[in-house]
Amino acid sequence: MMRRLYQGVPGMADRSGERRSTPGHKPPATDPCSPIPVAKADADELREECGVVAIYGHPDAARQAYLGLYALQHRGQESAGIATADGQRLANIKGMGLVSEIFTDDVLAKLPGSMAIGHTRYSTTGDSALLNAQPIRVDSTRGLIAIAHNGNLVNLGSLRLRLERQGAYFQTTSDSEIIVQLIAHSPSSTLVDCIADSLAQVEGAFSIVMMTRDRIFAARDPRGFRPLSMGRIRSPGTADTILFASETCAFDLLRAEFVRDVLPGELVMVTEDGVTSRQYASGVPQSSCIFEHVYFSRPDSRVFGRWVQESRDRMGRQLARESGVPADVVVPVPDSGVTAALGYAEEAGLPFRFGLIRNHYVGRTFIEPEQRVRDFGVRLKLNPVRNLLEGKRVVLIDDSIIRGTTSRKIVRMVRGAGAKEVHLRISCPPTTSPCFYGVDTPSKRDLIAANNSIEEIRRFIEADSLAYLSLDGLLQSVQNGEKQGFCVACYTGVYPTQWIDVDGILPAGATI
Ligand code: SF4
Repeated sequence: MMRRLYQGVPGMADRSGERRSTPGHKPPATDPCSPIPVAKADADELREECGVVAIYGHPDAARQAYLGLYALQHRGQESAGIATADGQRLANIKGMGLVSEIFTDDVLAKLPGSMAIGHTRYSTTGDSALLNAQPIRVDSTRGLIAIAHNGNLVNLGSLRLRLERQGAYFQTTSDSEIIVQLIAHSPSSTLVDCIADSLAQVEGAFSIVMMTRDRIFAARDPRGFRPLSMGRIRSPGTADTILFASETCAFDLLRAEFVRDVLPGELVMVTEDGVTSRQYASGVPQSSCIFEHVYFSRPDSRVFGRWVQESRDRMGRQLARESGVPADVVVPVPDSGVTAALGYAEEAGLPFRFGLIRNHYVGRTFIEPEQRVRDFGVRLKLNPVRNLLEGKRVVLIDDSIIRGTTSRKIVRMVRGAGAKEVHLRISCPPTTSPCFYGVDTPSKRDLIAANNSIEEIRRFIEADSLAYLSLDGLLQSVQNGEKQGFCVACYTGVYPTQWIDVDGILPAGATI
């Protein structure tokens, strides 16, 4: 997604007169008293933008990449692609839709080779064209390169301008192509130096997999915003297959073992000589996306060194300790609220019940980012179980409130099924600021918690009570005993990088 971005300079104002963000700097509060609701569209959940996989040294690498992407489908449902290499050629097939819809047996048969990279993508309307689907394959001065990435670069504009002045011709609006162009224009002599050189110039969030005719590369940005793990399939008598994936749940489907996370600022290269690694950047504080633990990643994944299931269970328990309420039953908003609800119920000593049933067979049609299908979406996706809710005081557990409109529909649905009281508990702090690091968030003016008090939100969603997990409670829930830095900018407005989307902090209707 292309956003309008400006570089922050401490203490300076941009041409609009608005102060910009600097590392650790809080943008000015805007739109402090806009009326509820502020939604211009009913996009009421956050979406991850991408998942990536890479396979080295497997006779059917395309099918392995397909299975890996299948496990990562929750990270993006609009397009998917697989590129393969056999030492000579580099094939690439992309399509719009779900992984299983695009990659039939016939299609996979057109992707030969023992190396593959794959990508599954979500993006906003207008930016979801096949042209921007990944992997992208570029025939550069360094040879053929295929690249796929998860995250968002935040210094796109200046890099693109500089590269165009140097004669670069861009075929897409994808962040990934910027990286390939930087590689092509790097003065370094070896390909791995060129890649390290280009990664050191880009700012923002990226977990990247790259492939040439005979090598695979994997890298994470210096702050480690997005996850990326390395795995291995042991093959007695032959060399092991090396894999990379956004989440470890992909390894389980491939019967691979988890080896380790790719480190923030690390570039890993896999060739016929084995795995080598270098730190292309260091000394930057880690700021891994805490929302991966709250919502995005699957609970059966190990992300940033910790099981997501464990984090969510602790979030629920902490939520019960911080804001318990007399009730008869704990009900999750499925699926992402389930683990936190289990933790809450156990800590509170209350029964846990599936009082809302999710229809898992709602097709892609209903998760496309378009207004007309979203309005219908909540009723299509969720249905209450009347006999579990009737006459009960219900604690409803969800993972976030974005615009508030979906939460209101769910509260109404539970009350309409006969619940006597509905108490909504959210397993993270209020989302008050947009994300610039690869998560599709509405601008600040459309985030209900940015512009309203908790009591105002409670009234809007029509709950009997509303409480969020505290930031301290969330941080305690995701720590794994090691010192680990997390990005919490969507709760605090304090961004770890030097860049900010001015559109996101200007009041509604303002122009620059
Ligand atoms: S702003 Fe929020 S969603 Fe974005 S990277 Fe930071 S924690 Fe994650």
